[in-house]
Amino acid sequence: MSETPASTQFELFNEDYRLVERRSARSRHLRVEVRSASEVRLVYPRWVARAQALAFLREREGWVREKLAELRQVQAQRQVPELRWDGQGELLFHGRRLPLRLVPASGLRPQLRFEPESVSLFAAPQLGLQPRHLELILRRGLLQRARQEAKQLLEDEGRRLGVQAAGLRVNDPRTQWGSCNPGGLICLSWRLLMAPPEVFRYVVVHELCHLVHRNHSPRFWALVERQMPGHDEQRAWLRENGGLLQDWLPKE
Ligand SMILES: [Zn+2]
Repeated sequence: MSETPASTQFELFNEDYRLVERRSARSRHLRVEVRSASEVRLVYPRWVARAQALAFLREREGWVREKLAELRQVQAQRQVPELRWDGQGELLFHGRRLPLRLVPASGLRPQLRFEPESVSLFAAPQLGLQPRHLELILRRGLLQRARQEAKQLLEDEGRRLGVQAAGLRVNDPRTQWGSCNPGGLICLSWRLLMAPPEVFRYVVVHELCHLVHRNHSPRFWALVERQMPGHDEQRAWLRENGGLLQDWLPKE
């Protein structure tokens, strides 16, 4: 990609990818490049109007999405290990891969504990738990922990913004990290627990801001930015790694 002083650059954000626009003195044709699993570049000559360039991109949207999906799949295959209980297992938690341990315990109630450098499931050997049971206990523990963290974030960020959600639901939606319904109920994905804490916080702030602005208008984004300066970084993380969060402990 040749850079010229005459080129200008815009950046458009949508939830799926970052669009970088280059208006270049040197380029002679319109072109769309899928640069990575999260970035698409639109290059167009100076004599082409921006609206025309965007229309050109829209015509190729199907192709762009196919390419992005391919790249994301490759990324996911590279990164997600099987769930293992033999001491070699790992779990994604707060944006880090932590060792997942199965620890023999005397209590009859299995317990999942989050420690700074590992996640441990304490279970009595005489229970004879099979991997299937262990996974269920793990999923239940993660959901419970996600609820706790979501509740705390909602309280803290709601207070800062001066709003209060009508309620909270934490579940496993396939397509959204969070949502806010017209009644003010906020739903969040438990999978945000696997993301860095700031990403979780960003989604909570985003949904709370919808209690003020029920749209994605510039005023909405200005409020998000005021509550969480630099939130583009968190959005980029989600675009880049969202697929990964879905691939760990896939939805059954
Ligand atoms: Zn939104």
